Amino acid sequence: MNWSLMIHGGCGAMRPDRLPPEQEDRARVGLSAALDAGEAILASGGSSLDAVEAAARVLEDNPAFNAGRGSVLAADGRVELDAAIMDGRDRRAGAVAGLATTRAPVSAARAVMEHSPHVLLTYAGADRFARERGLDQVANDWFITPERRAQLDKVLAAGGAFDADIKYGTIGAVACDMAGHVAAATSTGGLTAKRWGRIGDSPLIGAGTYADDRAAAVSATGLGEAFIRAVAAHELAARIRLTGARLQDALDAVLADVGTLGGTGGLIAVSPTGEAAWGFSTPGMYRARASAAGREVAVYSEPERR
Ligand code: ASP
Repeated sequence: MNWSLMIHGGCGAMRPDRLPPEQEDRARVGLSAALDAGEAILASGGSSLDAVEAAARVLEDNPAFNAGRGSVLAADGRVELDAAIMDGRDRRAGAVAGLATTRAPVSAARAVMEHSPHVLLTYAGADRFARERGLDQVANDWFITPERRAQLDKVLAAGGAFDADIKYGTIGAVACDMAGHVAAATSTGGLTAKRWGRIGDSPLIGAGTYADDRAAAVSATGLGEAFIRAVAAHELAARIRLTGARLQDALDAVLADVGTLGGTGGLIAVSPTGEAAWGFSTPGMYRARASAAGREVAVYSEPERR
């Protein structure tokens, strides 16, 4: 069977003339390291669930991406982390939102799936659960980088409005293993200057994250509110399951629908036969894929290979 892994590190207004080369390099190196982690598992016959968790953890720990360390800041200057994971075999799922001290949100989501009777835990209760499960705890400051602090100050100075250079830095991973099972994981700090306990699409099963062996595994990035209203990840899988749509066609249709709701963003998806697709409506998306056929790391919309 073909294994397949696809990851994203968010999308946004990246253009070759606007993205500083060192920032692009940091992202490419980070994506490549995450591919390594997932590929090592899939190529040796491991499960898609283990692979998406491993790839997501590498991206969470990398400050170049808006997840885990290096997450964007909420309006009060703190970091609130959201994540979800889903197993396509039986549609078991786990998610966390508003974490403040758990170092690996995606692993907290997996613990919710495997060690609680629930699907979604939030805020202090979610951190408490993760701590009780023995997951690493850190001070909230540990997640904060000077770049994100400056970004928040800029957004607050502009009255809290999102700027045109916004980059949705959420990370995600989807995989199909040699047994033909799919899994998806997404992790994020959400949107800069978020308030009032705002939660986006990433930890909402069906919106930013979904996996179903009958169709596909999906992870999203972009304006969460639009992806929630489109129930984007589930919609993509449902189109395949109910209409027999091709993976790429289903993905493109959902992205267009998100667009009609005023949202931009990107999606990655793999099918249980190992087919993989990505798409985005922003100028660029940090993304990478690996399979037995090779690897690709890309940032802009034009085809590129490294
Ligand atoms: N989708 C995420 C959210 O709305 C943001 C992102 O993709 O960076 O929380």
